[in-house]
Formats: sequence, C-alpha cells, structure tokens
Amino acid sequence: MFVWEDADRMTSRHRHPKKDVQRALRFAEDHGWTVTPTASGHRWGEMVCGHQGRDACQVSIWSTPKNAGNHANRLRQRVRNCPHQLPGSGGGS
Ligand SMILES: [Zn+2]
Repeated sequence: MFVWEDADRMTSRHRHPKKDVQRALRFAEDHGWTVTPTASGHRWGEMVCGHQGRDACQVSIWSTPKNAGNHANRLRQRVRNCPHQLPGSGGGS
C-alpha cells in the first residue's frame, strides 16, 4: 500500500506555504503529475501532467494567490480535466 508519511518526506523539498495549495499539489502528484518549484517572481512553480509530449498540460502555481482555496480548486480542476489520464495510476509493479 501507499504510505502517505513516506511520500511526505520525499516531497518535503517542494512544500507550498499555503496548505490548500500544497494539498492540491499532492493530489496532482497522486495523479501522475510532476510538480516543479521554479521560484521566480510570483510564480512558485509549475506542474505538468504525466503525458510525455509537447501538448502535456502545464499549469502555473502561484506562490501567494489572493485566494489560496480558489487557486487550489483550480489546480485540482486542471488535474481532473487532463485528457492524458494514466490508466489506473501506478497499478502493478
Ligand atoms: Zn494532460
């Protein structure tokens, strides 16, 4: 089984200051997305879906969104709307 505590340690290097957003990033990673902190200006980083190609979904993550809950919801929405969903995320080894 997947243990969240372990994942927590692994991803602690890119922890978003806003709890809501951080949870959305987890949600994204759980769906095969890659979260990359770029820390440039207002942009905390970006996340890219698991699709290998130029048309992969790419979403900007803001470091200090006016409404963190809103921003988190939008990030989750992008994950759900991704047309490149991996079939059965991470099943079988
Ligand atoms: Zn996608």
